Amino acid sequence: MSVGASPRSGGSPACGPGEPQAIVISSCPMCGSERSAVAFEESPYSVRRCSSCGLGWVTPRLGEDGLAEMYVDDSYWRSGSPKTLGYHDYRADEPLYLETFRRRLGFVLRHGPQGGRALDIGCAAGFCMQALRERGFEAHGVEVSETIARHASEHFGFATVHVGTLQSASFAERSFHLITLWDVVEHVVDPRALLVQARELLAPGGLLVLETQNIDSAFARLLGSRWHHYKHAEHIYHFTPSTISELLQSAGLEVQTSTPRFGGKYVSFQFIAERAARLHPALSTALAPLRRFESASVYLNFMDEMIVTASAPRTPSSPPAVATPQASSPPSAPA
Ligand SMILES: [Zn+2]
Repeated sequence: MSVGASPRSGGSPACGPGEPQAIVISSCPMCGSERSAVAFEESPYSVRRCSSCGLGWVTPRLGEDGLAEMYVDDSYWRSGSPKTLGYHDYRADEPLYLETFRRRLGFVLRHGPQGGRALDIGCAAGFCMQALRERGFEAHGVEVSETIARHASEHFGFATVHVGTLQSASFAERSFHLITLWDVVEHVVDPRALLVQARELLAPGGLLVLETQNIDSAFARLLGSRWHHYKHAEHIYHFTPSTISELLQSAGLEVQTSTPRFGGKYVSFQFIAERAARLHPALSTALAPLRRFESASVYLNFMDEMIVTASAPRTPSSPPAVATPQASSPPSAPA
């Protein structure tokens, strides 16, 4: 994929003087096909599907700088309108994220590395890094938003978060045993380039784990345009099991597993009431009393998110740049 864009807090690509320019994407960003159809429109956006490979994409959208600007702003992490952009209060949901990542890592690492160096790309507040640390990994992170990355350093005591893009980090090639990307590839302008960079950072045979939403899932089809993953300003791509596999393979990675079975997450009743508003405003009103149970949570899996694991090639002629994975001592937890 080679094209790109980023809207602002309001969720619409800005077009005024001095504002980031919206970019219209007419041909398939993945396979280049000119044949596509509009799945649905929600002004000013259209969601298009490629008639050749099945990729979904949003047009128009902002460029790389405009997108980065959106995530840097704290209003993305504490959003007044989380059903269309960002999160209600990302930091406050720490217990839910920690439980979700513990559960997911428990599944995907059954046959994966049990320690060594791990990198979470798009690490946000460091929740996955913390779950990795609990499993004995030396956890590193990359995050474009300084405001949310500060939580990882100040709250969890991580000194291993690079604020900026992966490209701007100076990690050694083949230096990680595990790389994770949760809810990342659908946000970035050039996912293939990102995955190529990630592959270069993986030790031979190292494992990459990513999660993204499946536009062809039964739940997405059932809900149509009301599907809660349609957040047009930020979810600029929608993958299918085949397009995400092709993307990983084109980046030089070998797909191992792809399943929606472990793609569930712990959510609060607050979250359920918010997202229900996307289905029907009356549902949000009906479920409003649930908001009182702020501390309560439930594990939900609509089977509409894919967790895909892929490995870096083993090249016996090129010795690994890092030692055999070993459990490292976790740094002491902050007070
Ligand atoms: Zn295509």
